[in-house]
Amino acid sequence: MPGGYSAAIDESAVKDAAHLSAHASARDVETALGRDSRDIWDLAALLSPVAGAEYLESIAERSRELTRQRFGKTIHLFAPLYVSNACVSTCTYCGFSKSNEIARTTLEPDEVRVEAGYLLDQGFRHILLVSGEHARIVSPDYLCEVIDALAPSVPQISLEVQTWSATEYERFVAAGADGIVVYQETYDRQRYSEVHLRGRKRDYDARLDALDHAASAGARRLGAGALLGLLPDWRADVISLAEHALWLTRKHWRCEISVALPRLRPCIGSEAEVSPVGDRDYLQAICALRLLLPDAAIVLTTREPARLRDGLMQVGVTHMSAGSHTEPGGYTLGHLGADPQFDVDDRRPVSEVANAIAENGYDPVWKDWARV
Ligand code: SF4
Repeated sequence: MPGGYSAAIDESAVKDAAHLSAHASARDVETALGRDSRDIWDLAALLSPVAGAEYLESIAERSRELTRQRFGKTIHLFAPLYVSNACVSTCTYCGFSKSNEIARTTLEPDEVRVEAGYLLDQGFRHILLVSGEHARIVSPDYLCEVIDALAPSVPQISLEVQTWSATEYERFVAAGADGIVVYQETYDRQRYSEVHLRGRKRDYDARLDALDHAASAGARRLGAGALLGLLPDWRADVISLAEHALWLTRKHWRCEISVALPRLRPCIGSEAEVSPVGDRDYLQAICALRLLLPDAAIVLTTREPARLRDGLMQVGVTHMSAGSHTEPGGYTLGHLGADPQFDVDDRRPVSEVANAIAENGYDPVWKDWARV
């Protein structure tokens, strides 16, 4: 759509930056580290597999300092609440893919309220509503009803559902949602078409423009992300994500922009060829992103192992989920028997994660905003 990010994206600049990343020198990394404000070329140097990796300790230290300056020693906690695993799209890396024979459920608004009540009892005040893509079952009317049901008791409601137009996003915001999350998964068009085989999600440009529509509709928080493991050159996806976040920050400067780099996890029926990203590379990616985007929230979910999460919360991550379930009804309605989207790794109870945050000298933040 004209004016959206699909019209602004510069894919050749990303290619050039990814090339530079592969060949950056120690001097390039030192220059990037020494700057007060950085650009995409600095990010490429910081991500480089040889020179950047050699400076990983310094990159992590600078990232830690910058995160503390901008966010203090805090970790914002949120919980995903899966409302439906109905989906008419076929994505090769996802347990909800239409082609998978799984037990599917869509929660009634009253059931969503029960699940949310459990999460509120755990301490959460920010709930991320998640669903598969089924425009008839998980329709705008249904989503508005669910948001309506939660809004009186949940101060921060975000949505991670299929993409919609600004008209529908306006309805969600009016009902009480303030955050919209849309991960591009991979920014590489070729790879995108290989893993998104059927359904609305196959439309790369529509997905790329969704956060712009959400912001125009009044969403206050925008979440962008790339699913690491899909693209063999994961650095290219990190650079693309950073470019997207910079564009959103410039155009929608009143919004809080968050970025996430979830790594692929095992799931039912997965057919995607996985290009694993190791823990050291992952640390480098998070810290390099922080150096480019000092004010962006960086989100880390329970896909990652507990020990790594405890480390990453001290160098750049600002937002974490905890105690998560990825199936509808997973917190209190196990009898529904719905299948999950993927396996989580960090299975610690919420209280244990909150304790780990406090033991590391950080404050767990349950709520940082409220509707008036
Ligand atoms: S990634 Fe989303 S659209 Fe694709 S199969 Fe999973 S739930 Fe459906």
